[in-house]
Amino acid sequence: MSEQTDVVVIGAGVAGLITARELANRGHQVVVLEARDRIGGRLWTDRRLGQNLEIGGNWLHWTQPHVWAEVTRYGLEVSRGPRSEETFWLAGNEVRRGNLEDFMSLIDPGMTRLLEDTMKWLPRPDAPLTNPNLAEVDQYNLQEMLDKLDLSEDERNANEAAWVGHFNAPLNQCAYVNALRWTAASSGHWHLMHEASAIYRLKDGNDTLTKAIAEDANADIRLDAPVTAVRHSSGGAIVTYGDGQEIRAKKVVITLPQNILHKLDVQPALSDAKLAASREKTASQGVKAWIRVKGPIKPFFAYSAQDKPLSVIRTEFVSDTDAVLVGFGAAADRIDVTDIGQVQEAIKVWRDDLEVLEVAGHQWMSDPYAEETWQIQRPGQLTKYHREQQASEGALHFASGDIANIWAGFFDGAVESGLRAGRNVHEELNQEQP
Ligand SMILES: Cc1cc2nc3c(=O)[nH]c(=O)nc-3n(C[C@H](O)[C@H](O)[C@H](O)COP(=O)(O)OP(=O)(O)OC[C@H]3O[C@@H](n4cnc5c(N)ncnc54)[C@H](O)[C@@H]3O)c2cc1C
Repeated sequence: MSEQTDVVVIGAGVAGLITARELANRGHQVVVLEARDRIGGRLWTDRRLGQNLEIGGNWLHWTQPHVWAEVTRYGLEVSRGPRSEETFWLAGNEVRRGNLEDFMSLIDPGMTRLLEDTMKWLPRPDAPLTNPNLAEVDQYNLQEMLDKLDLSEDERNANEAAWVGHFNAPLNQCAYVNALRWTAASSGHWHLMHEASAIYRLKDGNDTLTKAIAEDANADIRLDAPVTAVRHSSGGAIVTYGDGQEIRAKKVVITLPQNILHKLDVQPALSDAKLAASREKTASQGVKAWIRVKGPIKPFFAYSAQDKPLSVIRTEFVSDTDAVLVGFGAAADRIDVTDIGQVQEAIKVWRDDLEVLEVAGHQWMSDPYAEETWQIQRPGQLTKYHREQQASEGALHFASGDIANIWAGFFDGAVESGLRAGRNVHEELNQEQP
C-alpha cells in the first residue's frame, strides 16, 4: 500500500508554501514535495559578499496587496538601499553623468507616451482579460512600441535600459502588455511602478518570509524530493518522487515555473494550452549579478543600453571600505555573472574607476528546477493562455507567481496564486466529503 494524504503540493516556493499553509490550517493533511535541498524556490537569500544577498527575487512594495499582508502578518521589517547620489547613462558611446532626477526626466516623455493607454487596455489589473479587445494590443512587442515613439538616441538607450532592468530580456521578445500590466497594477503611474518593482526589500532577507510561512504551515515539507510523475483521474492522483516513492492524494497542486511545466510526466497529459505556453517559454532570459567593489564610493545608478551584457547597475549596500552593486542584463548567454573578469569588463561601459573584488549570482536559466528568472510574457501569451494556465484539471490544481492576475512574475503573484489554489482545493474537498 502506498502512502496516502489529502493533498500533495509540488514545490516549496512561495506559491507552494502559501497553498500548503492555507490547506493545512483548514484541517487537511498536506505533504509538500520539493526538489531542492531548501525551501523558497526563486526566493533565495544566501550569505555571500558579506551580505544577506537575494540571489533570486528581491523587492516588494505596499502596493502589492498579497505580499504586504504577509509582511504585516509576520511582523517583518522593510528597508531600502542607499539613495543614488549620481547617475550615469549613455548617449551613443559617450557616458553622461547627472543625478537621478535628470535621468528620470530623460525617460519621462517616453514612459508617459508608451504607457498613456494603460487603463484603457487594463482597467482592472486584478482581472487582466477584462477588455474584450485586449488581443489587439497583445500582439505587439515592447520594442516595436518603443520604436514608434521616435526617441532621440540617449532617450532611447535610457528607456530601453530601464525596461531591461524590469524585464530581464531582449525587448523585441517581451509582450508590450507586460508593461501595461505592471503599470495598471500601479494604478497607471509609471513612477510608482518603477518604485514598486525595485526599491524596498525585507530587512533581514526574503528567507525570513519563507521560513515564517513554512513554520506556520503545519504541513509535512520534504526536501530533496523531486517529483518525476503524476498519474491522475477525477478521483485523485498518484505522485512519484525521489527514488520512486509513491504517494496517493485526493488533490495535487502543481507550482512548477512555466518554462519547466511541460517536462513533468503527467498522465493524462496537461491541456494543450498549458503545454504550449510552457514550450514557448517566457520571454525573460537574463541575468542578475551581485558585484562587490572597492570603496568608499558614492551610491549610484547606471543605465547603458539593451545590447550590453549589463544594462543596469546600482549600489545596494555601501560601507567605508566597499560597496555591493546589483546588475541586470537581457541575456544569460552574454555574460557569466560568476566570472569576475567578465563582470569587470561589463561595468567599464560606464566606469573604469571601479575595482571589482568579488562577484556572485546564479544561472537561473540552466537551473533545472526553474529555467527562468521572473515571468515576462511573450506577445499573445496573456490572451491565449492565461485563463487556461490557471484552470484546474480533474484532481490537479495550479499555483505559481507566473500565472497570477495582478503582479504576475512577482512574489506577490505567488502569494495571490497560492491563496487562490488553497481556497479552491479546500472547497472541492469539502464538497466531495460524504
Ligand atoms: C533573479 C530573480 C530576480 C527576481 N526579482 C524579483 C523581485 O525583485 N521582486 C519580486 O516580486 N519577484 C522577483 N522575482 C520573481 C519571484 O522570485 C518569483 O516570481 C517567485 O518567487 C515565484 O514563486 P513560485 O512559488 O511561483 O515559483 P518558484 O519559487 O519557482 O517555486 C517552484 C518550486 O518548485 C520546485 N520544483 C521544480 N520542479 C520540481 C519537481 N519536479 N519536483 C518538486 N519540486 C520542484 C522548485 O525547486 C521551486 O522551489 C525574481 C526572480 C529571479 C529569479
